[in-house]
Amino acid sequence: MIRSDSRRELRPYQWEVIMPALEGRNIIIWLPTGAGKTRAAAYVAKRHLETVDGAKVVVLVNRVHLVTQHCEEFSRMLDKRWAITTLSGDMGPRAGFGHLARSHDLLICTAELLQMALTSPEEEEHVELNAFSLLVVDECHHTHKDTVYNIILSRYLQHKLQRTRPLPQVLGLTASPGTGGASTLDGAIDHILQLCANLDTWRIMSPQNYRPQLQEHSPQPCKQYNLCHRRSQDPFGDMLKKLMERIHNRLDMPELSRDFGTQTYEQQVVELSQDAAEAGLQQRRVYALHLRRYNDALLIHHTVRAVDALASLREFYDRERATKTQVLHAERWLLAQFNDYKNELADLATRSPENPKLEMLEQILQEQFGSSDGRRGILFTQTRQSAHSLLLWLQQQPGLQMLDIRADLLIGAGNSSQNTHMTQRDQQEVIRKFRAGILNLLVATSVAEEGLDIPQCNVVVRYGLLTNEISMVQVCEPRDANSPQRSLWDPRPAQAPPYLLPQARGRARAGQSVYSFVATQGSRELRRELTNEALETLMERAVAAVQKMDEAEYQAKIRDLQRAALVKRAAQAAQRENQRQQFLAEQVQLLCINCMVAVGHGSDLRKVEGAHHVNVNPNFSIYYTVSRGPVVIDRTFKDWKPGGAIHCRNCGEVSIGAMALNRVFRSPQSERGGPASAIRTSSRGWGKQLCPRSPSSEERGLTTV
Ligand SMILES: [Zn+2]
Repeated sequence: MIRSDSRRELRPYQWEVIMPALEGRNIIIWLPTGAGKTRAAAYVAKRHLETVDGAKVVVLVNRVHLVTQHCEEFSRMLDKRWAITTLSGDMGPRAGFGHLARSHDLLICTAELLQMALTSPEEEEHVELNAFSLLVVDECHHTHKDTVYNIILSRYLQHKLQRTRPLPQVLGLTASPGTGGASTLDGAIDHILQLCANLDTWRIMSPQNYRPQLQEHSPQPCKQYNLCHRRSQDPFGDMLKKLMERIHNRLDMPELSRDFGTQTYEQQVVELSQDAAEAGLQQRRVYALHLRRYNDALLIHHTVRAVDALASLREFYDRERATKTQVLHAERWLLAQFNDYKNELADLATRSPENPKLEMLEQILQEQFGSSDGRRGILFTQTRQSAHSLLLWLQQQPGLQMLDIRADLLIGAGNSSQNTHMTQRDQQEVIRKFRAGILNLLVATSVAEEGLDIPQCNVVVRYGLLTNEISMVQVCEPRDANSPQRSLWDPRPAQAPPYLLPQARGRARAGQSVYSFVATQGSRELRRELTNEALETLMERAVAAVQKMDEAEYQAKIRDLQRAALVKRAAQAAQRENQRQQFLAEQVQLLCINCMVAVGHGSDLRKVEGAHHVNVNPNFSIYYTVSRGPVVIDRTFKDWKPGGAIHCRNCGEVSIGAMALNRVFRSPQSERGGPASAIRTSSRGWGKQLCPRSPSSEERGLTTV
């Protein structure tokens, strides 16, 4: 009875792709967004629990918000007789992972938490991989290189090679296996094979017999390219470039490129500031940091309005002026330069001709929201900064005030600066309002593109793909078909338009939907879009080739790749160990990255929860001051919570780290009789330690020599 219900719940194409998994085989399910991957996986889990003795399932996700979302889907599919639980970093105090694994049939968690549990020495927390009989890996195309997924799966491969029995069955889910940046068919095939090797996959499953039916469930929106010209005159942009030229002249490094307003330029100055910090060249570092801010402003100017660009620059200089207590000669000059030119910049910004891309966007919104009711759309942009600016523009642009546009932001939850991110809760609330129709337009970064369960839209606009995130440069030349924005499926017949971005396409399912790509003619963003279309086709061919490969040949290749991966990983581990032993922790000195004052030693640091470094030396407190409100980190930690940001007492540098306040008094060194009493002494039972925030390039406050 139950079984036939479930059968009815699954569509024939879902049924087709899960078959081998029901027989215990390791597969990757490749289905487009919105076609019901999770439901298919939930059915596999249900059958697995029903038929395998001592079955235990773990579902791994790569984003925290997917934990709840998947729990709903799995709970709907599974009967009440199975105990399900979820774990994620934002849950607050919880029972140990190992304990929960022992007392439940199915766990849904972020990969980080499983990895921590696998390596934890605490019995409550620890779990072995083979405690599970089925491992479901959501968005499994991330199982590459040094991702947490791949670290977990290489543990699996180690077990496999050592013939440790039993091993869990592995079920990967993806809307896009990607090409790994390969631009040839052979390269793309290698990438797919590597993914299969990493996940120990027997076969990638995509609908063959039921393709037409799949298409019915995801009809194609109409894609339009909305291309516009560059600004013919750009006095504001020219002025920014002139100021950058002046900084370059003082920097006196003629070998540096002056390709202002590009990501390659950004990468250059980021590297320059890091190298300068390591070499102790304070003036040079400061010039590089300021050049980056000017470059950011140019990128914002290309994407949105000149006034937004100027606002970001002004905010930066205001903050510098407010926080820095010790100002270098170079900084004094830079502050003076901005001060001298800010009125002229403001004047040029207000008189600047409208960004042609915004004119184009206004036209699209007029067409979509002007005529019919019930429109619902997403406006995708690359950075949080541009999302903020676009929302502001939507609220201020006179031509849009008559339209029924109710917009809000949907941006990432990472731990960046306090005013430019949303917490998980904020995200959920915005999605709820969007679903209820209180909002009808989301201005979103890529966070909304992968996995988030957003209702159907009839307008999707991809706007201003130029990014100021350095990681994009590294993966995107040509941009990685593997990145979330690019995820692609394509079990579609040949006549379907080959160029639609599948994630965005998935969102534009409702009737009469429009998918618009807004870009400047001849721009890099347009070239990328076209490259990515080619990559999609390439990926489809590569997967088809792997699917058709002779089974013995395929198996042999997978085995070779798996062995090679383990050898490589062992070599890397040995190398890391070597590096670690190169210096004694006591010999490593920690300096303020700005003023180079020595503030501690490597031996003062302890690593907590595998990721955060805490300075446990009580004397450390003489080197910093603490700002009031707590730093926002959208995660709850087991034993501590973040306090205020700390500043270098000598120079006022702000990006050193944050206070870590102990939740329960328990720290790694207390067991070994370390300086526990110093940490214990504080009001309200919270101890104080210093924790440099996780080292994004810009935020890494302490450097080593
Ligand atoms: Zn300092």
